[in-house]
Amino acid sequence: MTEKLDEKEQQKAQDKPVAGPPQDLKDMAELVSLCKRRGFVFPSSEIYGGINACWDYGPLGIELKRNVKERWWRAMTDRDDVEGLDAAILMHPRVWEASGHVEGFVDPLVDCKKCRNRFRADKLDPAVIAAKKCPECAGELTEPRLFNLMFKTHMGPVEESAAVVYLRPETAQGIYVNFLNVQQSMRQRLPFGIAQIGKAFRNEITPGNFIFRTREFEQMEMQYFVKPGSDMDWFEKWKQTRMQWHLDNGIRKEKLRFHEHGPGELAHYAKAAFDIEYEFPFGWQELEGIHNRSDFDLGRHEKFSGKKLEYFDEAAKERYLPYIVETSAGCDRSLLVALADAYRFDGERTWLSLHPVLAPYKVAVYPLMKKPDLLEYADKVFGELKKRFRATTDETGSIGKRYRRQDEIGTPFGVTIDYDTLTNHTVTIRHRDSMVQERISAENLTRYIEEKFEKWNG
Ligand code: ATP
Repeated sequence: MTEKLDEKEQQKAQDKPVAGPPQDLKDMAELVSLCKRRGFVFPSSEIYGGINACWDYGPLGIELKRNVKERWWRAMTDRDDVEGLDAAILMHPRVWEASGHVEGFVDPLVDCKKCRNRFRADKLDPAVIAAKKCPECAGELTEPRLFNLMFKTHMGPVEESAAVVYLRPETAQGIYVNFLNVQQSMRQRLPFGIAQIGKAFRNEITPGNFIFRTREFEQMEMQYFVKPGSDMDWFEKWKQTRMQWHLDNGIRKEKLRFHEHGPGELAHYAKAAFDIEYEFPFGWQELEGIHNRSDFDLGRHEKFSGKKLEYFDEAAKERYLPYIVETSAGCDRSLLVALADAYRFDGERTWLSLHPVLAPYKVAVYPLMKKPDLLEYADKVFGELKKRFRATTDETGSIGKRYRRQDEIGTPFGVTIDYDTLTNHTVTIRHRDSMVQERISAENLTRYIEEKFEKWNG
């Protein structure tokens, strides 16, 4: 009996009420550390000292990433007017001439002659460039040089004679060159879109901010083919649809905004472009681009391949090159936004306030003590919950410590099995964000959690 009371006292003491108002993520280092500690993201090749700006997704990181991708894929391909695709990373080298990447995918670079640091000239203060003084060590900077961001490799066994190929710097081109294949095989009529998730590679000069800018990353791109003239309407629709997707991931509205590309910023192919930006601890930055690319891409591929890529509009009895509205989101960046936005610290407790659709685990089950009857009951509850949700159990350490561990990985609910459970078949369900605990019937658990998820508002 004393043991039972002590445990309860302990539980109360360690699951203390909020120490202060929850604070947002202030410093990326806190998130990097949490991600490493809790199995979300590890530095790549860490035992060899790591490799600059390459990261590995751990067991929970990959769950979160799969949830992000799954939500995007469903949002796109559940529509009748969007088809999926998975094109090869290696493509014919002419693709990159047609796309403009060979010629134009370059950043102006300056090097410091003293500390050997390299900077993007367009990201430095114009005064720094004019003075040719390194912002790090005040050494002399070189003149800006253009640097192509595509990774080159060779196709075939003999390097010298082999053709140079590139690792794709974006997934979009795989969609453009398959436009007619998809349209004809799926008997699609305009307007329709093609969605693809895949790796892209850019030899970025200044990668950094954790997984914000890396050299290997994943994109979630959708290219929507429309009749010229209807492009601006579709552009507007897709802007709103994409913003709503981020909001539905639970990202706070005040942390998201549109940024319109002015005439100076607009890419050579774009008729109109908006970025969806997120306010990171290091400022407002692009999360996704929505572009009206006109008929630039299909026009270029017609020219470079010599193949007609026109669409025959049966209703209007005319042939034309469709316009393209593109939505291009970073998968890793969406994941970073999910983590950064969910991060909370109240002076004592750290938790991830992840939306349940993204949380790696939806519920955790804790037997209060390692006693056979409690373990057995917990196992039964876990087995039931697992049928419906991705769930986990934790039997080690004080109950308070176990709550904290799950808080840090964003598990929305915790279910504790105690001695009362054995007699009256009720369990304690604890809410991650409010730390409120309720006593409910073990039988109703699945339904209870389902209902909470259906109308989730934190
Ligand atoms: P920037 O100007 O910042 O280099 P960009 O405008 O070239 O980026 P896009 O080509 O529009 O970026 O790429 C679409 C999306 O792909 C971006 O919104 C971003 O989410 C993601 N992305 C682009 N480059 C990287 C990278 N190096 N690392 C991670 N994600 C990236």
